[in-house]
Amino acid sequence: MRVFKFGGASVKDAEGIRNVYDVLQKVGFEDVLLVVSAMGKTTNALEVVIKDYFDKSSALQSSVQEVKKYHNQILLDLFENDKNEVFVAVKSLFSDLEYFLTHNKSPNYNFVYDQIVSFGELISTTILSHYMNFMGIQTQWIDVRNFIKTNSNYRDAEVDWVSTQKNISKNVKRKILNVTQGFLGSDENNFTTTLGREGSDYTAAIFAYCLNAESVTIWKDVPGVMNADPRYFENASLLNQISYREAIELAFYGATVIHPKTLQPLQKKEIPLYVKSFINPLLKGTSVSKGVALEPFLPCFIVKRNQLLISLSSIDFSFIMEENISEIFALFHQFKLKVNLIQNTAISFSVCVEDKFDNFKSLNTILSKKFKVDFSENVTLYTIRHFDDMATQTVEQGKKVILKQVSTETMQIVTSDDK
Ligand code: ADP
Ligand code: ASP
Ligand code: MG
Repeated sequence: MRVFKFGGASVKDAEGIRNVYDVLQKVGFEDVLLVVSAMGKTTNALEVVIKDYFDKSSALQSSVQEVKKYHNQILLDLFENDKNEVFVAVKSLFSDLEYFLTHNKSPNYNFVYDQIVSFGELISTTILSHYMNFMGIQTQWIDVRNFIKTNSNYRDAEVDWVSTQKNISKNVKRKILNVTQGFLGSDENNFTTTLGREGSDYTAAIFAYCLNAESVTIWKDVPGVMNADPRYFENASLLNQISYREAIELAFYGATVIHPKTLQPLQKKEIPLYVKSFINPLLKGTSVSKGVALEPFLPCFIVKRNQLLISLSSIDFSFIMEENISEIFALFHQFKLKVNLIQNTAISFSVCVEDKFDNFKSLNTILSKKFKVDFSENVTLYTIRHFDDMATQTVEQGKKVILKQVSTETMQIVTSDDK
């Protein structure tokens, strides 16, 4: 079985959905499982709904309306008339969303977030699956929440591999085209959970692992994995073949073309990952597989914006040692701050972190009791894998470098004056 993942960019409008059909015609669709994300920027639009809901804003109705209008437009463009049963199916999903918004009693932000944001994927897969059927490709729509089981760590749930494996091996049918949602799972009580933003690539890897799939292909708006994000670097070039190791490093440092959790399950079973263009599906793209050395060691650039650089120093000039460091890390973990760079001296300790859940303020209150805390917000972290002088110069030019760290293969530079 092959697993294909179509992300938000590939299904952002009717044209995109028609293109998925064309891709399937070209590359085959028997014995395939499609993992599909919410259309375009729907997840962001649903985040606005969530915000309006919690703010008790009068804009709530119109933010829901926006999401409805966007999908309706796509439906009207795809189907000749509104007699197709997909209209009823999508309407019913919006009714469920509205029911939740009027009846929910839980004040738990992360729980509510997952219950709402999941409609993006439920709607996109419903539309896509009906469209394929309409065009003569029979699909089996499956609700991923009956397959991927997780803990109740809403917005960043961890997979329960044992029950997930059992559900998938037992209940996914082979030899047909399955369509399911990326990003979602469900907990013990069958409440919806999500795997972290951009988590649909990971969903594809979970299914591939549990199905012993032949390969995973993630279809992108770029030709494959490049040595830099082509949005920011004019001369980015395609990497034809990379090892799991290199891909993990790139994704870990923030190359958003692959979600970092995707590689591990695939590497464990040596399932190849192809990153290909949904615009030119017959081109080779990038293949990530076992043992292939990175081709000519091209410097690879990764940019992470909106980072927070925190420097802790001891108040009484005592050393910052293992004991304090482990305590500091436990706190970062507890407050869900993702550490992207660490540097320490005898009496100070600096980290570049991402505060996705907006927790730094609360953490700072605790840290300030023990350390002198300095921090700079909105800094940019550049990582260069396989750096050389030219590459370093490219990054540093015209910027204020506030921290730099070099290891054999990787250079990391934090700058403060970048947008
Ligand atoms: P999806 O639609 O699957 O969610 P994303 O938008 O998350 O796709 O990922 C594709 C984008 O990743 C590209 O449009 C590109 O701007 C960005 N990107 C970041 N780093 C790289 C890289 N090293 N190679 C290719 N694309 C990259
Ligand atoms: N729709 C989700 C997001 O935008 C998951 C994904 O696209 O991978 O984060
Ligand atoms: Mg994405």
